[in-house]
Amino acid sequence: MEDAVEMTRPSPQHPSDGPDDDQQRELVLQAAAERLRVERDEARARLESMTGDLESLFAASAGSNADDEHDPEGQTIAYERAQVSALMQGAQERLASIEAAAIRLQQGTYGICEVCREPIPAVRLEARPTAQTCVQHVPPARG
Ligand SMILES: [Zn+2]
Repeated sequence: MEDAVEMTRPSPQHPSDGPDDDQQRELVLQAAAERLRVERDEARARLESMTGDLESLFAASAGSNADDEHDPEGQTIAYERAQVSALMQGAQERLASIEAAAIRLQQGTYGICEVCREPIPAVRLEARPTAQTCVQHVPPARG
């Protein structure tokens, strides 16, 4: 069984020194770590600015007359608040997936398909640094 797996592997360019592949992988992981750091900062900044938006919307509605039904501005604020809340939820999920990827990097499981345990191709990780599966095993989209 194990022998068969070994035999079906593509033979490396330099059979004697494998480090080339390891080195390549190391570069991919370093690039991923850098991108995750940048994206995490961006996601945090976005979340912070949305939190500010939401707070000012709450402040605005608190300051206005509580009689929302007869106050068109109050309804607009409620609508905007719902919009920002939805956006914030998306940003929070994004941040969580980035942080989960950063943890996988630390644990050494980053870039490994969760389904087939094969390394996820570098091009896919470049396009989607938070990918948890190879292209074949992408879970169906939610919603
Ligand atoms: Zn897979």
